[in-house]
Amino acid sequence: MSETAIASPSEAQKSKARPRRPSAFALLLNNRLAAFGLVVLVLVVASALLAPLLPLADPNATDPANRLAPPLSDGHLLGTDALGRDMLSRLLWGTRVSLAVGLSASVIAAFAGSLIGLIAGYAGGRTDQLLMRFIDLMMAFPYILLALAIVAVLGPGLINALYAIAIVNVPFFARNIRGITVGLARREFVDAARLSGKGPVRIVASEILPNVLPTIVITLSTTVGWMILETAGLSFLGLGAQPPQADLGSMLGEGRKVLFTSPFVSLVPGLMIFLVVLSINLLGDGIRDVLDPRLKAGALAKPSARTAVEKNRRWPETKKDETSDAVLDVKGLETQFRIGRSIHRAVGGVDLSIRPGECLGLIGESGSGKSVTAMSLTGLVPSPPGRITGGKVLFETDDLLAVSDKELRALRGGAVSYVFQDPLATLHPLFPVGDQIAEAIRAHQPLDRSEARAKVLDLMRQVRIPNPEARMEAYPHELSGGLRQRISIAMALANDPKLIIADEPTTALDVTVQAQVLKLLDGLRRERGTAVLFITHDFGVVSEIADRVAVMYAGRIVETGPTAEVMANPAHPYTRMLIDCVPVMGEPERRLDAIPGRPPPVDDLPDGCAFADRCPRAAADCRSGDIAMRDIRGRIEARCLHPLSPGDALRGAA
Ligand code: ADP
Ligand code: MG
Repeated sequence: MSETAIASPSEAQKSKARPRRPSAFALLLNNRLAAFGLVVLVLVVASALLAPLLPLADPNATDPANRLAPPLSDGHLLGTDALGRDMLSRLLWGTRVSLAVGLSASVIAAFAGSLIGLIAGYAGGRTDQLLMRFIDLMMAFPYILLALAIVAVLGPGLINALYAIAIVNVPFFARNIRGITVGLARREFVDAARLSGKGPVRIVASEILPNVLPTIVITLSTTVGWMILETAGLSFLGLGAQPPQADLGSMLGEGRKVLFTSPFVSLVPGLMIFLVVLSINLLGDGIRDVLDPRLKAGALAKPSARTAVEKNRRWPETKKDETSDAVLDVKGLETQFRIGRSIHRAVGGVDLSIRPGECLGLIGESGSGKSVTAMSLTGLVPSPPGRITGGKVLFETDDLLAVSDKELRALRGGAVSYVFQDPLATLHPLFPVGDQIAEAIRAHQPLDRSEARAKVLDLMRQVRIPNPEARMEAYPHELSGGLRQRISIAMALANDPKLIIADEPTTALDVTVQAQVLKLLDGLRRERGTAVLFITHDFGVVSEIADRVAVMYAGRIVETGPTAEVMANPAHPYTRMLIDCVPVMGEPERRLDAIPGRPPPVDDLPDGCAFADRCPRAAADCRSGDIAMRDIRGRIEARCLHPLSPGDALRGAA
């Protein structure tokens, strides 16, 4: 037995060794357009870099006898220009110059612009005002006109064109970076750094810069193409590269004079500009998608409005399939996350049922799959990577996994509503809470403004918010945590739900407020006969509100039964351990045991009982096969081969 315990971690490590998440580069190649851009760009850059090594003619050697030779003529693959110079050689040398100038201008603009943005955003106040008005001043001139004016002052020439292009692009970076920095500079981790005695330079360099760097890279990658184009534009007008030096813009300008007699002279550099800018922009867009942290986790797709459901999902046929009086009847629900090549079985066959007016407590350690279960019920798990692979969710008589999108939308927030853990994250920060409750009502009921207002006040009174007339004008940040959670509950009650799913609604609250919110929810379900699925990790909370409990471990229910019976005499050792984690008033000498070990990773579940590795009662038969739910004592069911009897001590039995 101990051998298996040792063998399984090494296997787990082996599976960890293979890449779990596609690398940024793999994601980039996944994007076909970006991959195309990359290939083209690599070819162009490689040939430009290799120009000195290639057997090319001197790009500036004129040969008047051989002027305007067409492409594919003897010794000149792309022909010659009006002075008889080899086009291929000029093209590659010219591309070299254009790329170098465009890239240098971008880097200079990115550096100067980001520096201005960081300083303005972090310093704020007068520095910010001064710098940004200066930037505004630059932005008030048409872009290319400003570049022309700068070259006119500095004098024509490649280097001066580079400066001009860099300068006119500075505001672009400065504005972007300043905006992000302003938001970051007021965040708590920056305050913490300041309080720990770090100076402004170190804070900007070590706290803020790493956060804005991805944006700088993204902005840079999407602007390089434009800058090459602008440099070419200045050269085309004769203000950039000076003869005889070739760059793409000046070649285009020279070709213009013979555009009708020998169009290829302008076509060749024109095509090259097109290729370079197109490939850089495609690649830049791809890089932006990959670097966006929200897109890193999954495929490069937006989550759909509803969790994907496998077409031929299966569900267990149970004996009492004649629909009971349950509001919600979940059978064999399975939800997986597919990330790279690994499959996370977050919910692995869950059965639940709740009757009207009943409160079912769903309890388990963090990560046991409670939230994913709750969100799967109305298809709120993001897809990709989430996917419902099995089961049935009977709400009254409809299978929620099979109803149309329209029906599902009508149910969400209507007959089935949610209360989440952190109301500050779920409420909109910029609207008064009264308007947000009204919006929840009017999404489902055609009420006019005054009717909605009356209903809002009524709901706020129901959730015992004092002075609702004044409070409905308040913004979320002006309310205390307890009041905010009451607002979320009012929103959940707005359309007379038959089922409320409350996902750790009191975890963010202190104990007194928690008690008030629990009392409120309890009273409401008794008055209205609403069914409640109450999710928590705390047996203390469950004992106050739930009629029945379902204990969840590693994505499966391991024990269910009436709360009082389970609390008094749990059958599953895991339940016993969870109960033993709760302190009891007046019993200071009681041992509070943390549960040793950790839950198994859901992408690598062991065979048999998932709890066996942490269980003092585990025997050899616990480690193989599927362990089914069994009736233990009348009303308690548990997924355990060696359940506890009333009075059994957990550790003595090991
Ligand atoms: P809890 O019981 O604390 O509510 P959850 O239901 O949130 O736990 O999570 C269950 C498991 O599913 C965890 O192992 C978690 O890592 C995984 N999981 C949850 N959401 C996602 C997601 N969007 N992508 C990948 N894995 C997820
Ligand atoms: Mg959760």
